[in-house]
Amino acid sequence: MRARASRRLFLVLGLACILTTATLLWAEGVHLCRGDLEGPALYKSIPAEGTTERTVMWRGRESRFPLKTCLLCDSPLPDHGRGGPEFTLEGSVIRVCGPECQAKLREMGGGRLDDLQEKLAQAVIQRDKGDYPLNTCPVTGRKLAGDADAVDQVYDNTLVRLADDDAVDEFRKDPDGYVLTVRLARTLAKQRSLPGRSGNAGR
Ligand SMILES: [Zn+2]
Repeated sequence: MRARASRRLFLVLGLACILTTATLLWAEGVHLCRGDLEGPALYKSIPAEGTTERTVMWRGRESRFPLKTCLLCDSPLPDHGRGGPEFTLEGSVIRVCGPECQAKLREMGGGRLDDLQEKLAQAVIQRDKGDYPLNTCPVTGRKLAGDADAVDQVYDNTLVRLADDDAVDEFRKDPDGYVLTVRLARTLAKQRSLPGRSGNAGR
């Protein structure tokens, strides 16, 4: 009971943290609209690694599974994709159709697991790239040229697009921070959401 209450508190604090950051950026005149958010500026607004604020923000995030089908056997997930066991495997949120596939997945190792991680990563990219909220690399600030040139990283069921391979090392130093950057950008873009997606950069 106590654990549940504190989790709820963290969720509320996490949301408050995101909204406060959004308000501050808004007040500072950062240009906010879909596909036009500055990656490095937003990254700087994320609380530093190891701080309580960062922990609260990280706990308040939502890691959505990108498919409506079981990752293992491809059969439809119960309750239109919201049902079935959900658990974390090597940092990724995974859903399967039931306890049987969950047990199979837990026993799996090596190459087969790598294949499933790749399948999950591709599904995340397909889901996230359509309304990706940044048009610059959050590491270097370089413009993202388009789908073919972006160096896509998937972490914590989230797509982070980098401008080139040079940015990958920097990204790996603080993947949590860059994931939070993209999620904050998504929240801000939604608040300022423009009708339709036809004006999306790089598409
Ligand atoms: Zn299954």
